[in-house]
This record gives sequence, structure tokens and C-alpha cells, in this order.
Amino acid sequence: MADSLLRHRWRLLLPLIAILALLGLATALLVASTAFERERQRQAVISDTLWAEQAIAFEGQRLVDGLQALGRSPADFAGEDGFRRKAATVARRSPEVLALTLVGDDPARDWRYAVPGAPAAADAGVLDEVTRRALRFRRPAAHEAGADTMLVAVPLDGPPGTPAVAVARLSLSRLLANTVPWWFAHEAQITLLDEGGRRLATRDASVHGRGVYVHRIATQVADRSLYLDANSTRGTPSLVPNLLAAAMCVLTLLLALAVWALWRDLRRRAAAEAALREQHALRTAMEDALATGLFARDLAGAVTYANPAFCEMAGRSAAELAALSPPLAFLAPKADGAPPASAGTASGGDPRHRETVLVRADGEHRHVLLQEAPLFDGAGAQIGWMASVLDVTEQRRGAEFLRQQNERMHRMSRLMTMGEMASALAHELNQPLSAVNSYIMAGLNTMESARGLARVGEAARYFEKAKAQTDRAGTIIRRVRQFVGQAGPIIGEVALDEVLAELLPLIRLQAGGADERVVLRLDAPRRRVLADRVLLEQVLLNLTKNAFEAMGAVPAARREVVIFTEDDAAAPDAIVLGVRDHGPGMAARDGPVLAPSFATTKPGGLGMGLAVCRTALELMGSRLLYGAAPGGGAEFRFTLRRAAAAATG
Ligand code: ADP
Repeated sequence: MADSLLRHRWRLLLPLIAILALLGLATALLVASTAFERERQRQAVISDTLWAEQAIAFEGQRLVDGLQALGRSPADFAGEDGFRRKAATVARRSPEVLALTLVGDDPARDWRYAVPGAPAAADAGVLDEVTRRALRFRRPAAHEAGADTMLVAVPLDGPPGTPAVAVARLSLSRLLANTVPWWFAHEAQITLLDEGGRRLATRDASVHGRGVYVHRIATQVADRSLYLDANSTRGTPSLVPNLLAAAMCVLTLLLALAVWALWRDLRRRAAAEAALREQHALRTAMEDALATGLFARDLAGAVTYANPAFCEMAGRSAAELAALSPPLAFLAPKADGAPPASAGTASGGDPRHRETVLVRADGEHRHVLLQEAPLFDGAGAQIGWMASVLDVTEQRRGAEFLRQQNERMHRMSRLMTMGEMASALAHELNQPLSAVNSYIMAGLNTMESARGLARVGEAARYFEKAKAQTDRAGTIIRRVRQFVGQAGPIIGEVALDEVLAELLPLIRLQAGGADERVVLRLDAPRRRVLADRVLLEQVLLNLTKNAFEAMGAVPAARREVVIFTEDDAAAPDAIVLGVRDHGPGMAARDGPVLAPSFATTKPGGLGMGLAVCRTALELMGSRLLYGAAPGGGAEFRFTLRRAAAAATG
């Protein structure tokens, strides 16, 4: 990312340089325009001041002329009235005049004219002084007489005996008002100063100069030098430069913002490009590493992309695939129609997911799973299809092999089941058949020794019992078939007392000898459990048979089999049923009985008894457990669930 930013740096520098150049140019322009404006203002003040000074000088000259005109001919002094008329004319022409006086040898004969409304004079000393100066130097003389007032004396060239000097008292501020036009008076503070710089009069007291554009020029009233001072009300030019500066600031800010936005944009673009490159590399690596084939088609059906795995599968390079024109030769004709229009259009399941045949360039056929999904461009318009292809040829072969293997196994297992059934039947039928044999023998014996019909009934009972045993044999055959064929047991409520009472004669019968004893130790009477009655009988018969057989070598007194019930400590809703003997016990560990079928230690044994017991109990949801009996011998036990209705019985 940093690299690309560096590469793009010059693009950012360009606008920055442009901004700086613009800034410099604008500043120079600003400085130049400010200087120009200042100069222009200064020139204006100077020329206006010059103009005003000339106006003052001209007015002064006019006043001097007016005063000289007062005593030009002796006739002028004919009477005071004549003087007044002339004086009024002079005062009218020169509005700054407050009063006019003609001074002669005799002060008592001085003629005076005061402009109506003018303030009274208190300047006798000054009057003498200017009069003297005018007479001595024979030229007009002037002097200030208090604030705003000035006396101007002009020597007259009249005949002897006539006034020698005409004196005018004038208001300097009126002089300014008369000579300086209003527009200049508004633009600048105009002041008249004496030689020492003392302020004598101001054109307009309400106007104040800013001290930026100032011009002072010397002027003359008669022989008196004065200064005319103009102080412009204008300050340093501000509006245009300020506007310009503000505009420049705003523009610079905008430009800086634009550059910043550009910079940010560039950074983002560089970051996005880097992320994109990374993603692209990751995607390429993923696609190259994939074992699944991927290829894309445009809407016309031409291949636009294929990953290495697919090229390998199809036996063609990506360029060769792209050169193929639809319909694509590598897809079996039947499987390759036009790309599916949409999901679920075909009745045979999702057409986008199908198994088909891929024809390699060398002609070999491969079974593949093809899954297609629509491909969209950035605007969301479909531009084609993306397909993933999984080569399932090997799996297909494996599955076929597995199927054949299964079939073989099945046949084998059927044969084995038949064998098992035969041995189980042989084993289980042994008991009822020997019982039938015993009963029939007993019946025959009874009939042989029959002394009259009295014992026919007894014989008949034996035959009935034999019949009952043949029925049992029939049930056993059914049951054995059922559980060899994995049919479910018939679970129902079974009264333990009843079952044991019915079984006892048979147990005794299969014990054979008179010494063998069977003891019932039921912890409670009338126990009812959930079990298949016939299976339960088979279990008990097998266990007691094994018990007696195990005690063959045990002294007669100890040949005892105990059938017991007790509560199950682990499950309150179950009852433990067990068979215990005093034989040598089994060479097995305590715990579930795992004896495989056909394992026997007896010469004529079939090794089926325990296997049958185990299967029967498992069908009833129980387990056969073995343990060494407390006094020596074997103990087999299993649990059965109590029947709910008689749980307490
Ligand atoms: P079989 O009785 O035909 O041998 P079983 O499956 O009933 O077949 O018994 C398998 C073996 O387990 C017997 O051969 C015997 O060695 C042993 N066995 C079964 N019950 C007892 C028992 N109560 N005491 C000692 N060993 C026994």
C-alpha cells in the first residue's frame, strides 16, 4: 500500500504546488493592490490639498484687492455712508470678513463696519501691530487675533489726510468654509495652523482624520505664513484586500479540502487495491488447491473459467476448454442440455445438482457430481453459471464393491441364522421333549400296572402333562424363530408366583436326582413384572439346568439351587431375579455375561444355554449378570421392571 502511495505522491504534490503558487500570487497581488490604493489615496489628498491652498491664496488676494478698493479715490472718503456701502460689498464678496476698519492719523475719525451678527472685536493691540507693519513695509500685513480670527491690513495710496490703512477682521473657519469644497471637507479633516503648528481653525469639527493619508502645505494670507493640513478620513484600504483575503482563504481551504479528499480517496483506493490483490491471491491459491473442479460458463454456454482441478479432470488446458464452443464436448450429451433455467424446474429433483458423465479428452468417462449456481455481475444481472464438479468415479466403484460385499454377507448371515436356529431349537426342545418322554413313560407304566379303571385317570393326567409339554415345545419353536429372526418379544404382566409354581416340577424333572433341591426365596408374595412369560421360563430353566449340572461333583447335602427375588437398589421400579448354586462357579469375572454361543465345558454341551438367556433378557430390556455366590458357587441375576398396577404387591 505504501508503495502505491509513494507512486501517487507526485499526483498530490501537483495540486499542492498549484495551491501554494496561487497563494503566493494572490498575496503579491494583495500587497501590490494595497500599495497602489494607498498611493492613489495619498495622491488624491495631496492634489485636493493643493487645490484648497490655491483657493485660500486666491481668496486672500481677492480680500487684499477688495481692501485696496476701499480707498482708491478721495471720493471714497466723502462720507461714512459711502464707506459702509463699499464695505458691505467687500464683505458680501468675501464671506469670511467679520468687520472692516479704515485707520487714519486720527483714531477718532476711524471708520468701522461690522458684518451684522459678527462677534465684537477685542484685538486693539493686534490692530495697531498690523497697521504699523503695513505702513512701515508698504504692503499688506496679517496677524492672528485670538482663536479663529485674523486681521489683514492693507496700506492705501490715498491723498494726504485720508485713511492710510484698511483693516479687515476675518474668521479663518469661514475662510476655510468658503474656500474648501464640501466634498473635500467630508473626505479629510482640514485644519489651518500657524507657523508654530498651533491650530487656528478647522473646516468641519465633526470630521476626524485617520492619520493615514496626511498632507501639510504652506499657504500665505498677506505676509503671514500659515499651514493647511489635510488628514484624510480614509484608513488603510481594507474592503477589497479583506474581501480578496477572505476569498483566498476560502478558496485555499476548499482546495486543501479537495486535496485532502483526494489523498483520502487515494489511500482508500490503495487499501482496497491491496485487499483486492490479497483476496485475489487467496482465491487463486484456494482454487488451485481445490480438489473440486470449478468452471464457469457464460449464458451462451461457452467456458469462461476453469480451475486447475477441473482442467485435470477434463484432461484439457484452460485455453482448450475456453476454445470449445457449446454444446460442450466434455459433458455427456444427455446430461448437458442448456443450463437449467431455474431451480426446481425439472421434476426429477434440483436440476442444478446432478450426477453426470465427464468425457475426458482421451475419451475416458468419469462419473461426476455437478452442481451449478447462477453467476451474477456487480449490477446483479446474471452473466452465466458457475459449476463445481466432484469426481465420484472411485466412490461409485467403492459403493458397488460394498453392495456386492453386503449381498454376500447377507447370504452368509442367513445361513448362520439358520444354523443358530437349528442349534437353539435342538437345545430348547431338549427340555420339553425329555419331559414329554418322562410323562409318557409314567403314563404307560401306570397303564401297565393298571388295576382297573381306577388309575386310568392318573395315566390320563400324565398324558395331559405330556400334551402340555408338546404345546410348550410348539411355543418354544415359535419363540426361537422369533428371536433368531429378531422379532420382538411379547411383553406383558407376569405373576412371578405363578410362573415359578408352574416351573418347579419341570426344574425338578430336569434335575433328575432325589438329592437335588430347589429353594424359592421370594422377598415378597404376588410380585408382578413386565416380561415375556415364555422367554422368562426359558431363562429360569436354562439357569437352573446349568446350576444342577455344575453341582454334579458336590456332596448331595449341598446340592441346592436357590431362586430368589430382591429389590433393586439402583432402580426402585425394578426387581432383581436370581439363581444361585453351590457348584465351583464360573471362570469368569463378576459382571455382564459375555459367553459367546457354542462355548461349553461339558462333554455333551451345546454352549447355547447362556447365549439364549442373554438374548432373551436383552429382548426384554434386561441384562444377565454373573457373580460369585457368597458361600461359593455361581450366581446369575437379572432385573425386570415391576408391573405398575401391582408394583406394591
Ligand atoms: P452348556 O450348558 O451347554 O455348556 P451354556 O451356555 O449353558 O452351555 O453354558 C456354557 C458354560 O458355562 C458351561 O459349559 C459351563 O462351563 C459354564 N456354566 C454355566 N453355568 C454355570 C454354573 N452355574 N456354574 C458353573 N459353570 C457354569
